[in-house]
This record gives sequence, C-alpha cells and structure tokens, in this order.
Amino acid sequence: MKNTDLELLEAIGDSHYSDNVDTPLRPDAFVKSDKEKIEAIQKHFKKIMEELGLDITDDSLSGTPYRVAKMYVKELFYGLNPANKPKLSTFNNKYGYRKMLVEQNISIDSACEHHFLPITGFAHVGYIPEEKVIGLSKINRLVNYYAHRPQVQERLCLQILKDLQETLNTQSVIVMINAEHLCVSSRGIKDKTSSTITVEYGGAFENTEIRNEFLACLNPIE
Ligand SMILES: [Zn+2]
Repeated sequence: MKNTDLELLEAIGDSHYSDNVDTPLRPDAFVKSDKEKIEAIQKHFKKIMEELGLDITDDSLSGTPYRVAKMYVKELFYGLNPANKPKLSTFNNKYGYRKMLVEQNISIDSACEHHFLPITGFAHVGYIPEEKVIGLSKINRLVNYYAHRPQVQERLCLQILKDLQETLNTQSVIVMINAEHLCVSSRGIKDKTSSTITVEYGGAFENTEIRNEFLACLNPIE
C-alpha cells in the first residue's frame, strides 16, 4: 500500500462512512465452496497468528485457525451468501389489518467492516400492511441475515428496510437499530457507555405522528 493510501485510510479512520446500500462484493465471491473458503482462511489466519509471534504448535492455539475460519464462513458472515437468505413467504392480508405491526428488541449480532469487531444491540421494526403480511419470525430472520455480514450500521438499517419494502410491497416500513460497537468501546476512544441509533423509514412513517406512534409502542430492553 502506498503512503498516500495509508494516509487516506487513517483520515477515514472511524467515520464509518459508506454510500452504497449493497455490500461490496467481488464478482467471484461465491465461486469457492464454503469448505474451500474455510481451508484458505485457516491458512491465512495461521499466518496472522505466527506474525503476531504466537507458537501455533501449542495445544491451546493449534485449533484456532480452523475455529476462526469456520466461525467466519458458517456463523458470523453467513449472511454474505444470498444462498443463505431466509425464505420470506408472505400471506394475503385477509383480516384487513391496516394499522401498525411492531416487532421489537430483535437481537443484533453483527461485526463492523472497518475493524471486524462486534456490533451488538437491538433492532425494532414496524410496518403498516397493504395487501401482504409476513410471518413474525421472518422479520427476525431477515434482520439476522443482514446482520451476519461485515457491516456499517447505517447500511444494515437500509438493507433491512429496502428488503421488507420490496417483500411486503409497501413503502410503509420503519427500522430502528440501537447498537454498541466494540471498535468504539474497546479501542480508539474507548467509550463504554455510548450507543449508536439509526432510523430509516418510508411511506406512512414519513408522517411525524405515525413515527411517534411507532416510538410510543417500543419498550426497549436497553
Ligand atoms: Zn469499526
């Protein structure tokens, strides 16, 4: 990396700015199988540990490269692969339910893409149905799917919003996330008490009264 590139990287630092809603992926992102990826990452992570000076032959450390590689591919970042997207079946709104539905305190387990450190917190999602309604647990599954990628919180919020708007065929969706970023609490500024709130919405939620009704429904865990 050139010096000017490094300077730019330092300047961008912790600003966590990104202007694209899609997660930036290489064209060949899914050419390799999960098994091939785990094997490759295992080798690279072993190298990182060795560069740090760790004795990889030690009993306690020898399995770490494999554990980390498997955790990345199968757990923390399973949501990178569209093949893992939950099936979001919808139903006709046969009851004619026309007011707000809120699914609150959905656990967020994500990782920031600038430091690969955890982002943990809660998502609160609301929508006002038109012709379609969705199974409640599907909202949790969708949040989980998008959270399990290297993320920035703003983009996570938008990805959930846009997907639900498309799936439910209505703009009237709101997504609020309140999360702690370990890259803020455990390094850098080391602020242990701050959290980050993002709110994105469309349709009826553009109306302040409707938005306030959503906020009044919430009984957040923290
Ligand atoms: Zn970060």
